[in-house]
Amino acid sequence: MTEIQTTCCIAGGGPAGMMLGFLLARAGVPVVVLEKHEDFLRDFRGDTVHPSTLEMMHELGLLNEFLKIPHSTVREMSLQIGDDHLVVGHFEHLPVQCQFVALMPQWDFLDFIADHAMRYPDFDLQMRTEATDLLLDDGRVAGVRATTPDGQIEIRADLTVACDGRHSTLRGRAGFSVENLRAPMDVMWFRVPRNNNDPSDVVAHVETGRMLVMLNRNDYWQCAYVIPKGSADEVKHAGLDKFRNSVGDISPFLRDRLDEIDDWDKVKLLTVEVDRLRRWYRAGLICIGDAAHAMSPIGGVGINLAVQDAVAAANILAEPLRRGTVTIDTLKAVQQRREFPTRVTQRLQIMMQNNVIGPALANNGKRPRAPLFMKMMQWPLLQRIPGRLLAFGVRPEHIQSPAA
Ligand SMILES: Cc1cc2nc3c(=O)[nH]c(=O)nc-3n(C[C@H](O)[C@H](O)[C@H](O)COP(=O)(O)OP(=O)(O)OC[C@H]3O[C@@H](n4cnc5c(N)ncnc54)[C@H](O)[C@@H]3O)c2cc1C
Repeated sequence: MTEIQTTCCIAGGGPAGMMLGFLLARAGVPVVVLEKHEDFLRDFRGDTVHPSTLEMMHELGLLNEFLKIPHSTVREMSLQIGDDHLVVGHFEHLPVQCQFVALMPQWDFLDFIADHAMRYPDFDLQMRTEATDLLLDDGRVAGVRATTPDGQIEIRADLTVACDGRHSTLRGRAGFSVENLRAPMDVMWFRVPRNNNDPSDVVAHVETGRMLVMLNRNDYWQCAYVIPKGSADEVKHAGLDKFRNSVGDISPFLRDRLDEIDDWDKVKLLTVEVDRLRRWYRAGLICIGDAAHAMSPIGGVGINLAVQDAVAAANILAEPLRRGTVTIDTLKAVQQRREFPTRVTQRLQIMMQNNVIGPALANNGKRPRAPLFMKMMQWPLLQRIPGRLLAFGVRPEHIQSPAA
C-alpha cells in the first residue's frame, strides 16, 4: 500500500478544506488535501460569498483578481411575508471593501483557491481520493486511509483535519457525538431564466404553506422552494404542473418561463440539517466547517462560516504545526474560538425557522404575517444590525497566519 507522510492531512476539498490547505501551505506547513470528486463541479451549493469572505480575499491581496470571476452582487436582502414587505439587511453602510454579497458558483471559488494554493510547494491536492477511515496509534489519530482509482493509500500526518462536510465520514469514525437541532424544512433548488425588467435583488417570499427565495444570477434566477421537512416525495408525486403553479402563484412574473422546469432532474433536493458536534477534536484530529456544524441555508452563511473556521484554524495551528507542538489544548483553542459564532448563528437561524418558516409551512390556512421583532427591525438604525450580522457573522476572523 502506498504511504504518504505529511504534516497536516485535510479530508475534504470544500470551502473549509481548500481555504485551510491554502493558508497552511502559504505558512510553510506541508499539507495534503484529499477530495473524493474529480473536480469541484457541483450545482446549487453555497454560492453566496459574503463581505466577511471578500474582506479575507482583500487581506490576502487577492480581491481584485477574485472579483474578475463572473459574479452578480446583492446589496440588499428583502423578505415578503404575506402582505408585509421587510428589508432584512442592506450592506451599503459597512466599513469594508465590498458592500455586497457576491453570488458566484462555488466551483469557481474553489478553483480560484486551488490555483493559488498550488503555487506553494507545500500544497498537495489529491483529487478522486476518498478518506475512508482513521489510522490510529495508541488511540491517537495518526492520519487516514483513503481509496483512489489506483487502490488504497495511507496518509500519515501529525494532524488530520476533517473538512468532509455534513455527512462527514471521519467524524463518525472518530466517535464524536452530534447534537441535532432539527429543521422544519427541506429545500428544492432549480433555476429559471431572468429577464432584464425583473426585480434585481434577492427576493424571499413567504406565503401560506410555502416559501420561495430567488437569487439574482444575472441571466437566471437561482430559486429555493422551501417545503415542509420530508415532503419532497409528496411534492413530486403531485406532479410538475402543480409544482410550477405553486411557484407561479408566489412569483407571478415567473409564470411565462416555468415550462423550462420540464423534468424533476432539474430540481435538486437539499435535505436541511442543523447540527453541531459537542466536541470537535481528539488527539491528532479536529473537525471544522460543516463536519463540525451543519448550518441551515437561512442567510446563506454556510460557506462563509466554513471559511471563517479555516482562517481561525490556520491562525491557531500554523505555528504549532511548523514546530511540531500541536497539543490537545491547541485543538481545544480552535473549538473555543469558533463554537460561539456557530452557536449564535444557529440560534438566529432556529429563531427564524420557529417564528417565520415553520408556522408558514404548517399551513393553518391563515395568511402569514411578519413577527413583531422583524417589523421593529425596520427602524433605520436597527436595520443595520441584521445587515452587519449577515455580512460578518459573529466574531469575524482576520488572516493572522504567516506567509512563509
Ligand atoms: C444544495 C445546497 C445548497 C446550499 N446553498 C447554500 C447557500 O446558498 N449559501 C451558503 O452559504 N451555503 C449553502 N449551502 C451550504 C454550504 O455549501 C456549506 O455550508 C459549505 O459548503 C460547507 O463547507 P465545507 O467545506 O465545510 O463542506 P462541503 O462544502 O460539504 O465540502 C466537503 C467536501 O468534502 C468532500 N468529501 C466528502 N467526504 C469526503 C471523504 N470521505 N474524503 C474526501 N473528500 C470528501 C466533498 O466532496 C466536498 O467537496 C448549501 C448546501 C447544499 C448541499
